[in-house]
Amino acid sequence: MSSISDCVVLHGPELRPHHCKHFAWQGDTITRLDLGSPCNSLDAGALVVIPGLYNGHTHLGDSALPDGAAGLTLEEGFFRPHGYKYRELAKLDAATHQGHIEGALRYMAQTGTISHLDFREQGPFGSQLLRDASTAVGVQSIILGQFQDSPFAAETLTTNTAALPPATRAELAALLDIADGFSESTMNDLTDPAWLEIKATTAAAGKLRAIHCLENPAYREVSLARTGQGDLIRAIELLAPHIIVHLTEATDAEIALLAQSAITGVLNPRANTTLGLPVPPIMQLLDAGVNLLLGTDNVMLNPPNLFAELDFTWRLARSQAGESRAHEPDPLRILQMVTTNIARVLGGDAYGYLATGLPASFAVIDFHARHLRSTRNLSTSLVSRVGPGDVLATYREGRELWRDPDRAWA
Ligand SMILES: [Zn+2]
Repeated sequence: MSSISDCVVLHGPELRPHHCKHFAWQGDTITRLDLGSPCNSLDAGALVVIPGLYNGHTHLGDSALPDGAAGLTLEEGFFRPHGYKYRELAKLDAATHQGHIEGALRYMAQTGTISHLDFREQGPFGSQLLRDASTAVGVQSIILGQFQDSPFAAETLTTNTAALPPATRAELAALLDIADGFSESTMNDLTDPAWLEIKATTAAAGKLRAIHCLENPAYREVSLARTGQGDLIRAIELLAPHIIVHLTEATDAEIALLAQSAITGVLNPRANTTLGLPVPPIMQLLDAGVNLLLGTDNVMLNPPNLFAELDFTWRLARSQAGESRAHEPDPLRILQMVTTNIARVLGGDAYGYLATGLPASFAVIDFHARHLRSTRNLSTSLVSRVGPGDVLATYREGRELWRDPDRAWA
């Protein structure tokens, strides 16, 4: 059995910080959690145990290309077939590529992350590459595979009646043998009959579905011009995805539609701003009751450090709420976007919070650090002051994914 004494633990799905005399785990399970009184301020520091973080949206495939898309538009950098990302990925040999992906996974562990949902390009080959990297490092990769090439020519997309070609159907089957689900860039990449088939095939296989929507106005406009419907409503009706990523441009009506659908939204505000796009309507989505995750999106745009994403998201939400204190967002609701809220998407062992009998998946934060040790509001400091150097250790189901070699703490 391993344990930490006299610490602070964020307990239960509400993540409220409490003093804790003993936090212990054996194998993959939390076996003891002696909860004391609530604790939202410190006088002389503490070890703070938080649930291991879930990154709701990544593309680790481009971890070999940090800042490669600097100066490019969304279309120039990221769209098939000729976007910078796809051209450069095609040049990498598998061993070099896997080494970069493993590096990104290790950095995620070092910054408290235990699991991520990845939109993986390059067909079955790409999904297998990430699976191998994930097995080597121990961070869980929920792999949402994408077709190697766009199956439809522009004119076929415009007529919008074609079914999946046989070769693409076979690729989907091969993808789902390896991956945990299917993703595509946008609803505009496939025809309506193809989406219906993908929904049926993934549902029959018990796999996840995911899509980017409303990242910029063109997503909605192209969809409207081709089909008479915007991309969000088509996603909800034709694909019924488990997650919808971005929502940067979501209108009031679209937010209401999403809330009604009960589909989880994944926000990536740092990636959006890096591309010169607006920030997502975080407070409106929260107020509408949408279950939200946070993602760091392409490693090409952002290092996959969720504490940086929490910091940015918290400040944006605070700004969107305005000066009225009555509407101030609870920082723990922001933290739930990388912890508790995952359960609605993954279920099973993905609780996203800490309690006796649940998986020993957690990170230890060094609140003895100079900039944290006398916090007057621990919940706010967690989302606004913790940096990569403050994570002492990260465990997933009892397996140590990261431990700071330079600081003894237990
Ligand atoms: Zn993305």
